[in-house]
Amino acid sequence: MLEIQDLSAFYGNIQALREVSLKVPDAWIVSIVGANGAGKSSLLKCIAGVLTSKRGSIRFDGREMGGMAQKTVVEQGISLVPEGRQLFSQLSVLDNLLLGAYTYFRRRNRERISEALEQAFAMFPRLRERQSQVAGTLSGGEQQMLSIGRALMARPKVLMLDEPSLGLAPLIVEEILDTIETLNQRGATILLVEQNARDALQLSHYAYVFETGRVVHEGTGRALLDDPMIEEAYLGGV
Ligand code: ATP
Repeated sequence: MLEIQDLSAFYGNIQALREVSLKVPDAWIVSIVGANGAGKSSLLKCIAGVLTSKRGSIRFDGREMGGMAQKTVVEQGISLVPEGRQLFSQLSVLDNLLLGAYTYFRRRNRERISEALEQAFAMFPRLRERQSQVAGTLSGGEQQMLSIGRALMARPKVLMLDEPSLGLAPLIVEEILDTIETLNQRGATILLVEQNARDALQLSHYAYVFETGRVVHEGTGRALLDDPMIEEAYLGGV
């Protein structure tokens, strides 16, 4: 269980999160939805150890993570699929995947690396076919798969995804959402940030709505989907 308590985060004078508290129970899909600039990415960056200017508590399986460096967070079992994929576009698919396993390289654990690679290829057969292709020449959907595959190489217990559907065609979005559901069914805990609130809520066991750095609503995905006020404000009132 990942537990955030009274988390505030700052970019210089700008406060991006204001005493946010939330829980991500094991094997759940939890979503964060809300308008641009609401602080969703900042939350993931705080958990991942990327954004260090923060106050409050981030506990994972009872252990305080708030002050941990990025690589230590990965070693503890939490991986981030960042907004905009952030691949090494000049490197091959295989090299991008291997870079996701750097914590195992540090420990020279070759067996774990090949196991992780096999799992990533099993999840995304297209990456196996294209393992020698330069990442920058993949389609948008393939790049997103590679970004998820790279995060999986660290064998995370919790996978955090920041806007995985951004800029992708509807059919590819569906494929990515199916992948997230499959990963969850195989035991991964998912913390998902999505602009596409309707899809995110449909997929989620529980969700939090952010507004200007605060949690303003929370509930099961279903309850939020059925709430007329949420529909009006975040789902386009369709
Ligand atoms: P989006 O959906 O647009 O990515 P978000 O909900 O993820 O939005 P954040 O990216 O977390 O929101 O941004 C929260 C606040 O922090 C915003 O006011 C934003 O302008 C500010 N912010 C984010 N990154 C930086 C930065 N590197 N420097 C300064 N301010 C930042």
